Amino acid sequence: MEYTSIFPALITEALSTVRYPGSGKNIVELGMVADDLRIDGNKVSFSIIFEKSTDPFKASLLKSAEAAIKLKVPSAEVSINTIVPDSTPKAEVRPVLPGVKNIVAISSGKGGVGKSTVAANLAVALAADGYRVGLLDADIFGPSVPKMFGLENAELYMHEVDGRNLIIPAEKYGVKVLSIGFLIDPSSAAVWRGAMASNALKQLIEQADWGELDYFLIDMPPGTSDIHLTLVQTLGLTGTLVVTTPQQVAIADARKGIAMFRDSKINVPVLGIVDNMAWFTPEPHPEERYYLFGNDEDVDALAKEFDVPVLARIPLVSAVGAHSDSGSPIVLEPTASAMAFRHCAHELIEAVDRRNGNLPPTQKVSVH
Ligand code: ADP
Repeated sequence: MEYTSIFPALITEALSTVRYPGSGKNIVELGMVADDLRIDGNKVSFSIIFEKSTDPFKASLLKSAEAAIKLKVPSAEVSINTIVPDSTPKAEVRPVLPGVKNIVAISSGKGGVGKSTVAANLAVALAADGYRVGLLDADIFGPSVPKMFGLENAELYMHEVDGRNLIIPAEKYGVKVLSIGFLIDPSSAAVWRGAMASNALKQLIEQADWGELDYFLIDMPPGTSDIHLTLVQTLGLTGTLVVTTPQQVAIADARKGIAMFRDSKINVPVLGIVDNMAWFTPEPHPEERYYLFGNDEDVDALAKEFDVPVLARIPLVSAVGAHSDSGSPIVLEPTASAMAFRHCAHELIEAVDRRNGNLPPTQKVSVH
């Protein structure tokens, strides 16, 4: 039987006699014959690739190709498919926060160490220095930024930017502010877990008009949570600033937090540690220091362990808390503790510059 003699070279030879009109070349030379040739007895099937589904020579070429094969193998049953490469435009991948230069997560291992206090005062200090600053409160377990900014009753509005409806951040002390507390009732925050909180966070990042910012600070929930994973999947963070107190329990939890950011799958640079409530100072006597919780050495040892700097030590001063409670961060006042926060802001700027000079931009984490 004739079909035993059908072999691929014979088909290719036949097809190389088929010219694509006007090109002076045959369809094999032009790479139009796909590599899916199948020969089964006298059945021959393969595909021809057309650049456009509207190719005017499509029907005639298919006929010519079949005829060319039959000329060599008259008993062949030829079936030719056509392939048109997918030319539908791909959905545009919108960059997240294209106008934001530096994104810093303010994190802590343990709750109550002053993470939000540090985030709020740093944001206000940077804005007072003329930087464009955004502060996103992502602490689902206790969103306290609205209170610290006196924005508990802030109404949120949307406006249209490039055809998209975006949330307009509230603005106070020169800082653009949004809080997960604006979207959820803080008293029900504890039940906000997993997907719901993660969606709210993504919305506050992707569907808000943050505009152009030099520093975008994110007040994270304490510890390691779904929110952390969502954040590193949504954004490439410039780095994280870890807040701790000198207490052993706080340091132990801070260590776990640093280890998470350092994990090879997360890979977020740790810019430094802030030692908050490092000592107690009575406001009228800033020169007096009472080490209530632990010594400088305890936090220094943590910093050394991970080879990161202690960027600042902030005293425990009752006025710090009182100012936060009344909605006006202390950093705006001419006090010694305000100085400590301003110093911390300058150290942060330098740490970010060092990081940007030494490392490429952080990649978003992709989870498969
Ligand atoms: P976290 O965000 O880590 O849970 P907060 O920033 O809410 O912590 O601070 C916890 C409490 O400690 C708040 O009442 C805050 O006012 C107070 N606090 C934080 N830092 C200081 C400080 N340096 N001096 C005095 N009180 C502080």
